[in-house]
Amino acid sequence: MSEQRQDQVFEIAIVGRATWNLHSLNNEGTIGNVTEPRTVTLWNGDKVDGVSGEMMKHIHAFWTWLRAKEGSLPLCSACQKFQPQRADASIGDLPREMRERGREVDAMGEIIRRCVLCDLHGFFVQRPTIHRQSTIEFGWVVGVREKFHRDLHLHARHAIGSQEETTSEEEVSSEEEVSGEREAEVTAQMVYHRPTRSGIYAFVTLFQTWRIGLNEVNYTYALGNDDERKERFELALTAYEWTFKRPDGAMTTTRLPHIEGVEGLVLVAKTAVPVPLLSPLCDDYRQKLKELAERQGVEAHEFDDLLRLTEILTELRQLSPFKLSDSSQQ
Ligand SMILES: [Zn+2]
Repeated sequence: MSEQRQDQVFEIAIVGRATWNLHSLNNEGTIGNVTEPRTVTLWNGDKVDGVSGEMMKHIHAFWTWLRAKEGSLPLCSACQKFQPQRADASIGDLPREMRERGREVDAMGEIIRRCVLCDLHGFFVQRPTIHRQSTIEFGWVVGVREKFHRDLHLHARHAIGSQEETTSEEEVSSEEEVSGEREAEVTAQMVYHRPTRSGIYAFVTLFQTWRIGLNEVNYTYALGNDDERKERFELALTAYEWTFKRPDGAMTTTRLPHIEGVEGLVLVAKTAVPVPLLSPLCDDYRQKLKELAERQGVEAHEFDDLLRLTEILTELRQLSPFKLSDSSQQ
């Protein structure tokens, strides 16, 4: 029994710093013709550049969906189409009696069995009211103090035939210039401002692998087959790998990030203890986290580039998600 436990993984945290250049992965919104970058305030009032946890989770969910779709893993009718409501939009597919009040435990179990994305990323169903918290959590990705830069670039789309109205721009989107030739076609002229950011960003993410397939209405596993839990565990690891290799957020059509590097730690708890978390905003986060992890019996795997991170995630596939023991059956 104890030997078997060595092969299990309770929780995984990935913390570190990513160097992303010339991106605009997340923005506040557009007011008039100006797009505002995301800004977050740290405890001492420092304002830094940021990419929201929602955006990171969306990227992870998207890669989970793609892999599940390609691997023919179960997806509910809403997640088949990557609808953000997940189980709330596919609840009608469940047998009617399961949707009645008092049958929440059955509805929850069935949703988990039917869909890997609902299981891993969570959902909120309004009727009957059932809520599943995601097994995957992301914090804000935040610019490390004094290690990020932001520019607001002015771009212009030229209208052929009204060039006298063109204002002088420092930046002109070449796409429109090239395609603009001397055709008689009249397109709308537009001047717009878009942010471009570069920096070293601190990130934190937690994967509660022990909760894969766990029906948290009565705390029993909805998936009878352990292989299915392992398959979902591997699916989420693949999505993590793709999220770091390809953080496809906003504005990637013209601001595909220049990924320069990534460094950090992968913390792995093989017994039921929570992994310690410390922000990579602190310069000495690696040393302190390694010490904290060691005291708790948590493994800390260090990486200094994307390749090593990928190798660590690949090695983790050899393990299985931790399973709470069912004392009622003993
Ligand atoms: Zn689903």
